[in-house]
Amino acid sequence: MAHPYRIWHPFTQMARFDAEPKLVVERAEGNRLIDRDGREYIDAVASLWSVIHGHGHPQIVEAIQAQAAKLQHSTLLGISHPSAITLADSLIRHLPQGLSRVYYSSDGASAVEVALKMAIQYWVNCGHPERKRIVALDMAYHGDTLGANSLGGAGPFRDPYEPLLFEPLRIPNGYRYRCQWCASGLECDSSCVDVLRDLLEARGGEIAAVIVEPRVQGAAGMIVAPEGNLSSIRQLCSDHDVLLIADEVATGFGRTGEMFACDLEGVVPDIMTLGKGITGGYLPLSATVATDRVYEAFYDLSDRNKTLFHGHTFAGNPICCAAALASLKIFETEPVLERVRERAAFLGALLHELFADHPWVGEIRQQGLMVGLELVRDRATRESFPSADAIGWRVCMAARDRGVFLRPLGDVVVLMPPLSIEEEELVQIAEAVQYGLCEVGSGHGALA
Ligand code: PMP
Repeated sequence: MAHPYRIWHPFTQMARFDAEPKLVVERAEGNRLIDRDGREYIDAVASLWSVIHGHGHPQIVEAIQAQAAKLQHSTLLGISHPSAITLADSLIRHLPQGLSRVYYSSDGASAVEVALKMAIQYWVNCGHPERKRIVALDMAYHGDTLGANSLGGAGPFRDPYEPLLFEPLRIPNGYRYRCQWCASGLECDSSCVDVLRDLLEARGGEIAAVIVEPRVQGAAGMIVAPEGNLSSIRQLCSDHDVLLIADEVATGFGRTGEMFACDLEGVVPDIMTLGKGITGGYLPLSATVATDRVYEAFYDLSDRNKTLFHGHTFAGNPICCAAALASLKIFETEPVLERVRERAAFLGALLHELFADHPWVGEIRQQGLMVGLELVRDRATRESFPSADAIGWRVCMAARDRGVFLRPLGDVVVLMPPLSIEEEELVQIAEAVQYGLCEVGSGHGALA
């Protein structure tokens, strides 16, 4: 009998996993993953949207090694260490001005849990416990722990866990391709923002915070909100004294062409969450960053109950912080953001050349190096494929034959390479998608 495979993989239908050839990555160099048979794959999703400057970057590797030799772990519960202190200072220099206090955790979802608790307790500490509702976008994704999962949009990621979750108030997202108001119009008519305005006017006094994935809703299928949408939300929150939480776990650290998606519109949230790329994508670290206003509501020598009672054992681990610091130094010494903008323009032109007229490509969405190609059965009606056809999955599996690793979101093919990606690698990625579409199309009546 074959030796049983012991890992139960996250977000993976194990029956399908077992039926397909297993990709076992043994090492990685630059923008490539190398499996145990020596086959190379371009890491076109940056190891789940996290790797920033490529794999094995010598400065980050050295920083990790040096820190590991000095101090591997020491808690932040009540005591401190230099690597967390220096990183907090460095982060603040890069963040939108006004964000000034750094609360460390280990994963994106944990950073979101902290943001939710911070927002709710902020109002309790300020004497307004009645402000306890959270507003979230349709199709939101903020992680898989219960609070973060509660914020998520309806569907299989959320529905089975319903008995464990709380209900946020919902507002429409800026999904232009399928917008109920302006999908067929040339311009966004901002009707979705009016819904938030009405909600805040009617119920602002019971709302603690609005949480958004600024500019790009990643897991929803790389949905790029129309320009101005984020700043309108910021303005409405300010008008109604509601906190704005910007979840930059996916968008942060250069992916969008700016250091943070909020910078695209000059927006300063009250609370921001960071994860994934914070360490250059090497080690688990996340942060919830707040303004002085939020921080000061917890700062009280005479009232212990105002403490933020939350924390994780490895929050702000020294080795993780050292990696993050090394990654930020690369942003400071190399023209990383300029490169992202150049590569993004190159990729955008390439994708339009290859796919603008493709019968299955309904929409090409892009913000910086965050890209989604939405595959549809009928471009005229925008009708989706039946999910059982798993078209997106099959296209991405076929792309592996061309040495490219992709992971789709339903029928949205996601391209989110490391920021260090080279032009020839982008060409290889785009051609692998083209090949995947052709392979799947030839076995599927719809594409002759
Ligand atoms: N927020 C956003 C916007 C995300 O995209 C993700 C992960 N894709 C998370 C939070 C959760 O991060 P993690 O997987 O590190 O918990």
